[in-house]
Amino acid sequence: MPEAIGHITKVWRACPVCDTERGEPHLGKGGLHIVQCSRCGMLFANPVEARYVTGEFYDQLATPFYLSPDKLESDYSPVRFARELRLFRNYCPSGAVLDIGCSTGAFLHALQGQCLNTYSMLGTDVAGPALDYAERQGVPVLRESFLEHDFEARRFRAITFWAVLEHLANPRCFLAKAAELLEPGGHCFILVPNMESLAVRLLGKRYRYIMDEHLNYFTAATLKQIVAREPAFEIVALKTTHFNPVVIWQDRHSTMERVPDAARMQLLKRTTRWKQNPFAAPARWLYSGMERCLGQLFLADNLTIVVRRK
Ligand SMILES: [Zn+2]
Repeated sequence: MPEAIGHITKVWRACPVCDTERGEPHLGKGGLHIVQCSRCGMLFANPVEARYVTGEFYDQLATPFYLSPDKLESDYSPVRFARELRLFRNYCPSGAVLDIGCSTGAFLHALQGQCLNTYSMLGTDVAGPALDYAERQGVPVLRESFLEHDFEARRFRAITFWAVLEHLANPRCFLAKAAELLEPGGHCFILVPNMESLAVRLLGKRYRYIMDEHLNYFTAATLKQIVAREPAFEIVALKTTHFNPVVIWQDRHSTMERVPDAARMQLLKRTTRWKQNPFAAPARWLYSGMERCLGQLFLADNLTIVVRRK
């Protein structure tokens, strides 16, 4: 139910996993209030600003961030989606792919670049200017709301949610529609920040990805629970991936409540360049070993789950 608080309209939510209305205060950061569901343990923002629920924020205010040269250079670099592509191609070697929350289309563009003519693609997002960019790169897009669009008989071999579920006020509606649109045996790929990562354990609320735009904060247990609510899905893989020690170092020393977008973009660009620098190969080898160790301990930055449509 929307409610005007000061000049900002806020929306109250029930638990996005189990619909329970009750939640205990867990953490506050500026205007962000995270509660923990008293039934399933899910952490979620409540109340949240209406502009994040309607998508207005992504369609208008976030445009300078998504379309900045630094962000585009990083998203469109060959290393940006390397892990996601490896995982994706393991389970989905060909077929129709739908990328939900595709932003500027970088994942689909990279997939197309690796495997010309193996996949047919479609991206969708609430951010119109980001879709314009995706289209200019040759990525076909759907501009209508994903939840409202009638796909008729169209079905997909794979549906991806890369860093999307944490932004959605009603993630279960999206998962239910994804289940409906997948062919039997098709796969759904979900990546979200890991609330039990080493970074969160060390930084607590100082971690930059505990931010106003993120409405849902998953652990391995709550991510498993939310996909289990969809009876057509069965889990085939769950792991933690990605690790950026510079984020830990910077956020530990930061005095600001929110890391400015410009600083986030700068770090993305520097990290991407470092990953491609041939002289940094020995350091990368060490870093990969560390990331693998953290992954095995479920302490890496992101949770990735792969589910199969029965
Ligand atoms: Zn719950």
